[in-house]
Amino acid sequence: MADAAQRLEDIRARIATAAVRAGRDPSDIVLLAVSKTIPAEAIAELFALGQPSFAESRQQEADAKLPSVPSGIDWHFIGHLQRNKVRKVLESFGTLHGIDSLRLAQHVSSVAGELGLRPDLYLEVNLAAEPSKHGFDPDVLRAAIVELAQLPNIQIRGLMGIPPEEKSPEAARRWFADLRKLRDDLALQSGAALAGLSMGMSGDFQIAIEEGSTIVRIGSALFGKRSYQES
Ligand SMILES: *Cc1c(COP(=O)(O)O)cnc(C)c1O
Repeated sequence: MADAAQRLEDIRARIATAAVRAGRDPSDIVLLAVSKTIPAEAIAELFALGQPSFAESRQQEADAKLPSVPSGIDWHFIGHLQRNKVRKVLESFGTLHGIDSLRLAQHVSSVAGELGLRPDLYLEVNLAAEPSKHGFDPDVLRAAIVELAQLPNIQIRGLMGIPPEEKSPEAARRWFADLRKLRDDLALQSGAALAGLSMGMSGDFQIAIEEGSTIVRIGSALFGKRSYQES
């Protein structure tokens, strides 16, 4: 117990320090606790300590775990979303971070309409055009943003990105800055609010906050090292 409380307090303090250093209000940054591979008890423990928002990246794992966690958690889905999993995911998750095509967003909007839901979406961008990663190509996103913003049953909150593997957190800074610039361009171009930037993980969240992140997705720094490598 003491351990989890300590880690949570430590992460919150580091978020606040980075925010203040950048002249930002720490309360503008949401801490998302990435609980993939983490058992339900540890999620319940952190929730009881006052951490409201959690994220999972695999629908099957979430399916097995969610029935045993407390209700009232603000759940975010951060994995790659397959079309045939959309209905299932929308039943449990209010925010989806891995939307990477217009076609997928249209499908989410249509299923959300059937379910009477209006989920929050972050559009994932493949910043460095890495073949191993999902995400919109920035130019494809520019061409699609007006249509995306008009889909009726979703609320586009902003962009999400994972920088390529770099030698240091500092080297990731330019990718975070690129995502912020793209967000600003798209907001101008489309008139969509697009306030959100889902960027920064355990190793680089302070840099991401300095570059404008509004949601940091933190797993290992909160829960300890994961016992298996997720794909
Ligand atoms: C696992 C994961 C994270 C958290 O990674 P840590 O390095 O453990 O903080 C963040 N975002 C996504 C999309 C992930 O899959």
